Amino acid sequence: MTSSTRSTPSRATSSWFATASQKVRAGDGHPRAGSLVPWGTVHARRLGSARTACGVACFTWPIFFDLDVRHERALEVCDDCRRVALHDRPAVEW
Ligand SMILES: [Zn+2]
Repeated sequence: MTSSTRSTPSRATSSWFATASQKVRAGDGHPRAGSLVPWGTVHARRLGSARTACGVACFTWPIFFDLDVRHERALEVCDDCRRVALHDRPAVEW
């Protein structure tokens, strides 16, 4: 029995990951209480990149793999980063 149909993910995956300068542990009452969540504005970056899509140095910033900057609404997302991630344009090379 051969499997000729490739399992193509229905939702497009993005190579952009959410990042923020700080992470904090979500408190009680937060939808993700107890887990680490971004603090402040959320930006987008590619793995291995030292800068966000909008050009901020983010080398030491934590990455939040379970967040999608393109569709995140509960958090404050950088407009420039969201725009770049939505159109999946290549990051500016520095
Ligand atoms: Zn940004």
